[in-house]
Amino acid sequence: MQMYDYSSLPSASEQGKPRKQRKPRKPRKPRRWFFFLTLIGVSVLFGLGNEATEYKPVVELKKKVSASVDAELILPFAAQKAEGTKISGYIARNENLTDTFIREGISRTEVRQLIGALRKGIPRASFNPNVVRQGDRYALVIDSQSAIQHLEYTKRGDRETRFVVERIDGVLKARQENLPLRREAIVVFGRVKDTIWNALRETGENPAFLCDKLEYIFEYYIDFYNDCRKGDEFGFVVEKLYGKSGAFVRYGDILSAQYKGGKESFQAVLYIDPDSKDGYYDSDGRSLQGLFLRKPLNFTRISSKYASRRFHPILKRYIPHHGVDYAAPTGTKVWAIADGTVSFVGRKGPLGHYIEVEHNNGYKTGYGHLSRYARGLKRGQRVKQKQTIGYVGATGRATGPHLHFNFYATVNGKYKLTNPTRAINRPTGRPVPAKYMAHFRRQRDQHFALLGRANGSIVTAALPTVPTVAE
Ligand SMILES: [Zn+2]
Repeated sequence: MQMYDYSSLPSASEQGKPRKQRKPRKPRKPRRWFFFLTLIGVSVLFGLGNEATEYKPVVELKKKVSASVDAELILPFAAQKAEGTKISGYIARNENLTDTFIREGISRTEVRQLIGALRKGIPRASFNPNVVRQGDRYALVIDSQSAIQHLEYTKRGDRETRFVVERIDGVLKARQENLPLRREAIVVFGRVKDTIWNALRETGENPAFLCDKLEYIFEYYIDFYNDCRKGDEFGFVVEKLYGKSGAFVRYGDILSAQYKGGKESFQAVLYIDPDSKDGYYDSDGRSLQGLFLRKPLNFTRISSKYASRRFHPILKRYIPHHGVDYAAPTGTKVWAIADGTVSFVGRKGPLGHYIEVEHNNGYKTGYGHLSRYARGLKRGQRVKQKQTIGYVGATGRATGPHLHFNFYATVNGKYKLTNPTRAINRPTGRPVPAKYMAHFRRQRDQHFALLGRANGSIVTAALPTVPTVAE
């Protein structure tokens, strides 16, 4: 791998067209933590998830959990049977079924047939194709003509039902299936010796899901990638879902979590309001999530800060650097730091392969020197916060693999490059709406009470049955 790409000095920067995008091995998964559920499923299925097959009960586990995995429940969309390209993802905000599948490259005619099949095969009361919600999950298999061969659809939060459409003798036929999954929550505590990943592994749980989930929850408070210190302690309550045979299928949500560092401690609790909106909050009901992610990738170091003057290593002179350079290995995932719309994808002079995303409230972000883009990414596409949009590289004028990150704010009606660290790095702190505060406190108390149990406790009986109507 060529790490020092001097071939891309300005004069040579046009040499060679952008290489054809390679297809990523796994389908894109735009939604935050759902991403990891699928990841675990896929890795288990393909024998990569040793954690799952070697699942090791922790202290005081009352029941031994079978090590076998109910593969059918993990990747239910007949992936083994159906030939073709597998696409999976989630319904985005304000999207309907047609928008979603067209976004995935399915033709309007195909989508119409699909919706027709759903209407015919499934009672409207169970699934109305006109009413889909953000976070509903779909997994499609399409053939080389982009014709749908198989669809598996699950509604967000519904772990009992899936809707399946199959092409039988050339005709799409839909049916409803039930998935009885048993839900348990387990209390996990750990102490950091070197990395949070290893600490999680030592608890006997699978870090592939939990590490990213914890990172997401404490995004603005702890940089698990850089700041974890020996002796830091953490605890959390996480749901685990089991299939018919009692086999572990996947993790659900982290219900509550705490992190005790040397100087500071943080607590977080999941709150699902009566409108089914969810998020993580501190004990006073302030949102822990922000408009922007703290960083657009997991980086090794910041190799160049935002500066009005810096010595350019290639040009050998002082020029402003109105962005932040994050050094990271080639291929590291680059995330959109907030929901937005892709406004540029392509070559952009010294920035190489470049993506721009326009966000609400007059902000725009840019991601440069990418080795490649996320599969199918195009202008006008809506992206979600923490959706992978590209991969670190050294295209354009770069002395090694890094991400050049631009952050624009609107000044006098125009985008202006701004120092991102001033604008981002903080959560919105938006509180739970006053009308739901009593409801929040009840969920909070229940979830934090679970966290008070002993390490390894299974808290099935105590799983909160929170009324869905606020008082
Ligand atoms: Zn730069």
